[in-house]
Formats: sequence, structure tokens, C-alpha cells
Amino acid sequence: MLELTAEQVSMGVAVPDKEAALALLARELQADGLVREGYLKGLQAREAQGVTYLGQGIAIPHGTPETRELVERTGVRLLQFPDGVDWGQGQMVYLAIGIAARSDEHLRLLQMLTRALGEADLADALRQANTPDAILGLLQSAPKELELDRRLIGLDTPAEDVDELIIQGVRLLRRADCVGREFAAEVLGEEPMPLGGGLWWVSSEAGVLRPALAYLKPERPLRHRGQPVEGLLCLASTGDAHLKLLDRLCELLLSGRSGELTQARASRDVLEALGGEAVPEWPAVRVRLANAHGLHARPARELVQLAKQFEGDVRVRLVDSDGPAVSAKSLSKLLSLGVYRGQTIELLAEPAIADRALPLLRAAIEQGLGEPVEPLSEVVPAAPLPTQAQADMEQEPPAQAPLLGSWLHAVPAAPGVAIGPVHLQLACALEYPSRGESPAIERERLAAALAEARAEVEALVARSEAKAVRDIFGAHLEMLADPALTDEVHARLQQGESAEAAWATVIEEAAVAQERLQDAVLAERAADLRDIGRRVLGRLCGVAEVTAPDEPYVLVMAEMTPSDVARLDRERVAGLLTARGGATAHSAIVARALGIPALVGAGDGVLLLAEGTRVLLDGQRGRLLVGPDDAQVEHAREEQHRRAERLRLAEAHKLEPARTRDGHAVEVAANLGDSAGAAKAMAQGAEGVGLLRTEFIFMAQPQAPDLATQEAEYRRVFDALDGRPLVARTLDVGGDKPLPYWPVPHEDNPFLGVRGIRLTLRRPQLMETQLRALLRASDGRPLRIMFPMVGGVDEWRQAREMTRLLAREIPQADLQLGIMVEVPSAVMLAPVLAREVDFFSIGTNDLTQYCLAIDRGHPTLSAQADGLHPAVLRMIDMTVRAAHAEGKWVGVCGELAGDPLAVPLLVGLGVDELSLSPGGIPEVKARVRELQYSTAVELAATALTLDGAAAVRALAERF
Ligand code: PEP
Ligand code: MG
Repeated sequence: MLELTAEQVSMGVAVPDKEAALALLARELQADGLVREGYLKGLQAREAQGVTYLGQGIAIPHGTPETRELVERTGVRLLQFPDGVDWGQGQMVYLAIGIAARSDEHLRLLQMLTRALGEADLADALRQANTPDAILGLLQSAPKELELDRRLIGLDTPAEDVDELIIQGVRLLRRADCVGREFAAEVLGEEPMPLGGGLWWVSSEAGVLRPALAYLKPERPLRHRGQPVEGLLCLASTGDAHLKLLDRLCELLLSGRSGELTQARASRDVLEALGGEAVPEWPAVRVRLANAHGLHARPARELVQLAKQFEGDVRVRLVDSDGPAVSAKSLSKLLSLGVYRGQTIELLAEPAIADRALPLLRAAIEQGLGEPVEPLSEVVPAAPLPTQAQADMEQEPPAQAPLLGSWLHAVPAAPGVAIGPVHLQLACALEYPSRGESPAIERERLAAALAEARAEVEALVARSEAKAVRDIFGAHLEMLADPALTDEVHARLQQGESAEAAWATVIEEAAVAQERLQDAVLAERAADLRDIGRRVLGRLCGVAEVTAPDEPYVLVMAEMTPSDVARLDRERVAGLLTARGGATAHSAIVARALGIPALVGAGDGVLLLAEGTRVLLDGQRGRLLVGPDDAQVEHAREEQHRRAERLRLAEAHKLEPARTRDGHAVEVAANLGDSAGAAKAMAQGAEGVGLLRTEFIFMAQPQAPDLATQEAEYRRVFDALDGRPLVARTLDVGGDKPLPYWPVPHEDNPFLGVRGIRLTLRRPQLMETQLRALLRASDGRPLRIMFPMVGGVDEWRQAREMTRLLAREIPQADLQLGIMVEVPSAVMLAPVLAREVDFFSIGTNDLTQYCLAIDRGHPTLSAQADGLHPAVLRMIDMTVRAAHAEGKWVGVCGELAGDPLAVPLLVGLGVDELSLSPGGIPEVKARVRELQYSTAVELAATALTLDGAAAVRALAERF
């Protein structure tokens, strides 16, 4: 988030012209460590496209999408030019705000500035200012207009008394970002003032971010101090922004028209009575904005110019927001809407000009307002919800306890081996009354519980050595202090609920809302909310902590909260196992930070394990052995020791190449699921990226990412690789992992449905954008593109043709095209495909499931879906032979590549590259170095003749 601080302001700068001003700005941004050399070209190019003059003596120079990769970190630099600089088109600039932004953050800055600037003329004041604080003061405290629009009106608000009405008013003001926490505390401490006619008034200047008025009409008439309460005006005031409103209100009261407010049926009535911003009932059209960076200064200026051609008024509002409709002729108002790509805006025009103005403006917006635009993805109507009958049939069968001697597969969350009895900690239902004694008593009880919880969390923060743990509990402290939560609870207490019931309901509602977010990582934060929820509820119910057994045990829980993990006694907890959760859950992060081996998402069956059952948990390989025999335990212990020693050595040599003792080289690369991990992967010894799962860019957004967004992400990976090759896999979604914005019709067998290349070939526009972004990002660096789930030659040829055409347009110095081999038909056709591809990369996760016909996520069968099954090994063998016969290379990028037991076999089968999660790279490299290639070849040949995965594992264990 961009912020303005005094250190960013350079005062009294003199330059001869705009060119010199831009050059100075580029130097300053570079000196601040915000951009790299070359950013000046971006500033110049942006000015050539359209000047960045904002109005009122301010310009906001910034780079172009092409120079975004030169941005090291987001920030700004402000230069004051007391003598002014001619910015072109007769505009004098006294303050230039140079922006370095990687994405659309500058839109936020514009929104902030334009809200602050309003329509007042600041140029002179900026010129004469003589301290950085004076400049910031002008930007931040310029005269502001009172906000009053639909968002701030609550008609028929449920409330038991005037206090509750005030709480609702504060909530509206907070939601509109007009007030901070302080405001709530202040107005609640104020005695409301009767204005007559059933109207009441309360106001404060404390914690006001932007002056605004909220109006609340209670659902049913209330009384306060013996007088009726039919409407409440809640004012957040600063300066004299509200004086006009007061005049109007006096007029209303003196002329006996207070009923216009107390009898209002729609927010429009209130706005008309008080002179707020009502959306006019004019002819309107809607249009989706396609500009990559939203409605930023340049396209907004274009819209202003077009609107100004018309004599009458034209307004713009953001659909799906309750915000006002602003004038299309005001640049600052347009920018204050902060419209992003993909959002729909509504244009409204006075009836006299609507016929001419609306079609012209809509067409101009569709065409990008002077900017080239990528078409927006079409919106596919959501798939119908399953009927009750379907829903019933889709219900999970009841979980079963895993059998002794069985292997369970789960999500590896923290590496290491743990052996011990299980100790189950299942949350018991807390009992409490739904009604409280009185609102005052319940408020007191809640305050005490919150204070105790806060003290507990603060103690956890204080005693945590790991930063990740401190950060998470720091966020918990924020949640505990969040007035949005406590306001809601107080409103419920006021209605007579008990503190427990009110708190539990509000937390659960907030957690459910969080879970609905399309961003998987944000959605997982629901566990944090429930964590603090339980903590406070536990205090309210006076529940004592559960005591754990003394001997080292494997703790089993349905879902683990960060508090659960951080509270653990590391001396006694050998490992962690959860039925639910993902690898990005905070509990997993905490487990990794604390170094406790952990598996998550093992299925509800583990909750049925008998207390004390001995288990062997392998947090690296993602598996759990239930009831290991003594020999298996002994073996695991030995392996633990050997592994610790091997890891120590491996770590020391991780940057050296992986070469067998007899000189056979194997490339070891990293699998990446985001761009941020690339540098770390290289530091782990990766010799390139062998699989970039590009889904992450598509999953993180509420809509398909555009070209610029993708290009920036891919560039980030290339930059970290420093000349090493990048194997990028095109989007692999559909079937079992649909994107929220592309609902795929229900399929009985999604793994055999429209997924991977089958989906993207049906969406050529999407595929083309992705390929284009990859090709543009490479800039001559080694790029390998592979297509997932290719099952036939036609699919490969279509994908190759599309890529070749684009590569002609965006020439490449080092490009290879290949396929993932993960469908058996691709293996059978490998001799044909090998003639045409540059490489194969074997996805053993899917190849195993299709070869053995076992769903890779099957709750009970997935343990048998072992990539070391001889049938799978034979497929790998066939693929390698076919590729080598044509002089092509083969990689393995499924989980098997990271299994130290599989490494000798894969090397022996002739696999040229192993690509795996970065954490395992040092160990895999070390394993390769231990091998004699000729012996590994013999071992692999023997494995191919065996009858099952167990036999292969036994053979490999002995090796
Ligand atoms: C695979 O199938 O082995 C693979 C690497 O792809 P993913 O796991 O992403 O499906
Ligand atoms: Mg796959």
C-alpha cells in the first residue's frame, strides 16, 4: 500500500524543464532503492502516451507496464518545484509525485489523493509550502466535502434503544472508511441531543478520516429520556465541511419538515432532504471496464474530455457499490471511484443529452479510452446448485478407522519422521445459556474474557522464538481488538443474548464469510478467527485446558489452530496429524517453524484411531503407517539418524552439481507454485525450474489475470533464475480443480473430464494470452513450455502451432516445447510424439492415478497409488527410451522425483532431470552423488521385472 511520509518529499527543487524533472525523479527513485536503472524510459514513455498532470499543480509521473519489472518495491518520491515546471499543454506543476508501482497500487494513491484534494485550488499553497510536513498537510487536510450517500443511510434499522442506533451509525461510517476506532469510543460516550420532531443528533471529531454523515431510522419508534426517537443523525465532522448540511437541517426543522427524514421510505428521500448525493433517475447504460490498470489518470482524462463535449450533466457510478454517482467531467471524482479492470460502471446522462452522450461514451470505454485493451473473459453463468437429492447422494460415506498395518497418505506439512502413540484432542462442545443476565453484566463478562485472552496471546508472542509464530499471534491480537467484531457482539448483547452466544455467533459468521473468499490463503484464515473465538469462549465458559500425556506422542486433531500448535510442549509432541486443512494453513506454517513433523488433511478416519495406537508419521513423504511392527519402528529410527547425518552433509554440498560416482550427470530442478519462491529455490541448489505450476496466478484472482499481470509474474521467476532454464506448464485446471470464474458443468468423473490442455484448447484466447505473457517475459532467457494432460498427437500439434505462431511475433533465443507425460496414451504414443517434441516431463502423480486407475485423492485407496509400482516404472522406461531414441531429454516432475527411495530407480531408468519441491533438493542431489550409474541401471532393470510396488520398495530399501 502506498503511503505518504515526510522523508519522501524533496523541497525547493529547481529544474529547467519537464525532461530534467523526469530525469531527476528517476534518479531519486533509484537512489531510494525503489527502481532499477532504465526506469526513466518508462517515465518518458508514459508522458508520451499522455501527460500525467493530475490537476491543481500536481503531476503523478509513473512507468509503463513494460518497465514494471524495473520496480524493486512499491513507493513514491515527491519533488516540490516552487518555480513551477511546464508539464505541457499549458499546465504548471509545483509538485511531482513520482510513483514506482508493480501493479495497480497507484490507483489507490490516486483515489486517496483525489479524495483529499476535492475541488479546491491547491497549486499556490503547494508552491509556497516550505516544509515536507506542510506539503503532506496540504495533501491530507485540504478542504473536504461532507460525504453523504446511499451507503451512509440505514432505514428501518433494528435497534432496541438509541445506543444501538448509534452503533449502527458507526458501523455505516466505518464501512465507508470515514472513521477509525476512536470515533466509536467517543460517540458512544456522548449523550445524544434531541433536535425536535423525533430527530436526534450525535457527533464527534475524534478518529474522523473523512467528514461524513450517517442517517439511521429505527425499525420501530424508540424513546430516549422520555422523547421519541424516529431518526438519528450521526456526524463525523472535521473543519467546516458540514456547515452547509447544518443550514439545510435548520431550514428543515424550522419549516416543520422533519417528517421528510423520519418518514423517509427510500434513501433517495433522505438524500433529497439533506442535499446528499442521490443517484439521479436518468437514462443509463452499463459497461465493463477492460483497461489493464483500471480507470487511472490517462483513460479518466479521456473520459472527462468526451463528457465535456456535452452541455448537460453526465454521471458515473460503480455498480455493486453503494457509492455516489460522480460527475464524468471531474477527473478527481472519476479517479476517486477507483475502478479496476473487469468492474462494471454505470453511465447516467441528463435526458436532454442521453441519446447522444451515452452511446458515444460507452463505445469509447469499450474501446479502452485511448489505451489498447485485452478483451475481458466472458462471464459464464454459474452452474445450477445441486438439488437436494444430488446433495444427499454427494454426501461423504461415514469415515472408517484405518486398519492396523495400513499406510495413509496425507498432505506433507512439515518434514521429519515421528514415532509414537496417538493422542486425540477433539474439541468438545461447550455448553452455555443463550440469554444473558443483563446487557451490562454480559458486556462486563465479555470484556474480562477478552482481556484474559489478550494476556494469553501476548504471553505466546513473548515466548515465541519463531517470527512466523509471532506474526500469526500478532494478527490474533488485532482480531481481538477489532471493533467490527465487538460492535456486532455488543449489538447482540443489547438484545439480551448471553456473552457466549453472541460471541460464538459473530465469530462463526465472520469465519464463514472468510471461507467464502475465493483466495485460498485468505479463506484459510477462517481457522485463525475460530481459534481466537474458541479461546475467548473457553474463558467465558471457564473451561480448563486439556492435559496431554507425558511420553512423546503424535497429536491428532480434526483441524489444528495456530494456538494449538504454538501451545504444544515440543519435548512431548513428536508429530502432528490433522483430519482437515491444507499445507498453507497457519497451523502448518507454525509446525514448520517449530520443526515438528506434521501431516494435514489425512481424512476424518484418523479421528477414529484408538487413543494410544502407535503410528509412524513421515512428514516429508506425506504418509502415515498405522501400527508399525517393531522392525518397522527400528528401521524408521535408524533412518531418522541416517537421514539427519545425510541432511547435514547434503546441505553443505547443495550448490554442487548432482553427478553419480561414475560421472553421470542428472539435473535437479525445482517445482514452483508461485513466483516468490524462485530465489529461495535457487539458494537450495536448484539448477532451474522444472515445473512452474502457473495455476497460482489464475487461482489468486477473482477473474482471469490479464497479459500484464501474468507477464510480471513470469518475469519475476526468470529474474530469480539468473539465466537458468524455466519449464513453465500452461494452465492445468478444470475437472477436479475448476476456477471460480469458470464454473465447469458437473462431471461424473472430473479426472477423466475437461481438464488441462483439453480445457485450454477450448479457450484459445486464454491460452494465447498465457503463451504471449511467457514469451514476452523470457527476453532471450531459456524458456521451456509444456502442456499438461496431453493424450494425443492432435492436442500437442494444436498447442505447438499456436505457440509457434506467437513465437514468430515475439522471437525467442532459446525456446523448447514439450509435453507432460501423465496420460497412458501419451506413453504409448511416445515414439511418435518424441519425433516432434523437444522434451518430455513425466508427471508421475497423474500418470500413477491413470495407470493404476486409482484417484490420487481417494480417501482409502490412495495409499496404493504408489509411483514405484512396476507398471508405472515400465511407463517411465518406455517414455525415456522413446525420447532418447530421438535425442530428446526427459524429466520427472511428479512427487516421485523427490522421494529419496525412488531416486536410484529413476536415475537408473535414464531420467535426465528430476524436479521437486525446493526443500528436498539438497537430499536428492546427495542421493544422486552416492550412486554408481551402472549399478542404478541394473537396479532399475530388476525393478521392472517385479510384481508390485511393495516388492520395488523392498528392493530399493536394500539398495
Ligand atoms: C503430476 O501429475 O505429476 C504433476 C506434476 O502435475 P500436478 O501434480 O500438478 O497435476
Ligand atoms: Mg498432473
